[in-house]
Amino acid sequence: MNGSKIQNLSIFGGVPAFEEKLHVGRPNLGNRDEFIRRLNEIWDRNWLTNSGPMEKEFERRVADFIGVKHCIAMCNGTIALEIAIRALDLTGEVIVPSFTFIATAHALQWQEITPIFCDIRSKDYTIDTAKIEKMITPRTTGIIGVHIWGRVCDIVELSEIARKRNLKLLFDASHAFGCSHYGRMAGTFGDAEVLSFHATKFINTFEGGAVVTNNDELARKVRLMKNFGFMGTDNVGYVGTNGKMNEVCAAMGLVSLENINDFIAINRRNYEKYRQELADVSGLSLLPFPEREKSNYQYITVEVDEAVTGIKRDQIVDVLHHENVQARRYFYPGCHNMEPYRSYFPHANLLLPNTEKLMRKVFSLPTGTSIKEQDINKICSLLRLIVSNGKEINRRFYCNDI
Ligand SMILES: *Cc1c(COP(=O)(O)O)cnc(C)c1O
Repeated sequence: MNGSKIQNLSIFGGVPAFEEKLHVGRPNLGNRDEFIRRLNEIWDRNWLTNSGPMEKEFERRVADFIGVKHCIAMCNGTIALEIAIRALDLTGEVIVPSFTFIATAHALQWQEITPIFCDIRSKDYTIDTAKIEKMITPRTTGIIGVHIWGRVCDIVELSEIARKRNLKLLFDASHAFGCSHYGRMAGTFGDAEVLSFHATKFINTFEGGAVVTNNDELARKVRLMKNFGFMGTDNVGYVGTNGKMNEVCAAMGLVSLENINDFIAINRRNYEKYRQELADVSGLSLLPFPEREKSNYQYITVEVDEAVTGIKRDQIVDVLHHENVQARRYFYPGCHNMEPYRSYFPHANLLLPNTEKLMRKVFSLPTGTSIKEQDINKICSLLRLIVSNGKEINRRFYCNDI
């Protein structure tokens, strides 16, 4: 691609830079033969779900990998969140960041617990611990931190607030499988943590999730709740639901885990490539993964300084879409700007200045095992072209001033 002519952009009549759409969150697939071997095993055994050997093995491998006592696998991350919330006896109000995937808030609201949205800090987009205490009321029972894009929350501060105010501490670690914090793996913090193994996540089981915890009693409760509360063949001890992970999903998870080092290496290579290519594009900065920590490098997030680029984040994303790069505005517009929360808390934005600002600045780019190095070169040339002609594109195509 010619790196200097905006006439080449498809919005000006050129052909899209990519023939086929490049998506954020295309699945990382492991070894196909190994998956088929495991499928045959399931078929021969004729044991499809209900605490099968694949599910058991997957739970043990995940727990060993993280270094946590218990892993309870589930059908998806949202149900895992709901069950963890219920098993922790959360009621009334729970403090959560608004800058997250909607499921974090919904898992509370679904059980008629009010999510109280807290702001995030610009440093790493995680919940702003300095703003939490002001949001605690007599109805508050817990805090849910979200390790956004694999960046682990401020564990020390959060644990201290939870201890001091007698609150339960849960983490949504959907993005953080394989990420560490001061050398300790995400999944070991707070009262419990929740993982997602959705197809778009770093490790996938098609659909899946888990609750991980070091608390024996909590683990026992979560395990009962995911199986209707059954405590024996004809005995039910709790209200439960169906949160079980089936054998095929667990097999997929095991194959993913066997390939985890390859996934990390490829994601890391992609991240380094993006970092190198975008280093000289002024106004765009790639959010870094902490150097000294383990990371899964699964999210390539770019922050736009529109005073420098002369073109807004939304317009950059729009032009990328025209070029078949399906960049995503994770997590726009924040939970507090979506229903039912927008109606419940029409003035939430006043308490969320950083969320309001940051949700307009970032977008995510494709990475993972299905992206090639040449794709990254091309995406970065496009970005360079868009930004170096930002003001011009803005004027001619969007007909407005920034
Ligand atoms: C993906 C995700 C979830 C939900 O997980 P599912 O497995 O899709 O139900 C929850 N929270 C966050 C932050 C997520 O990214």
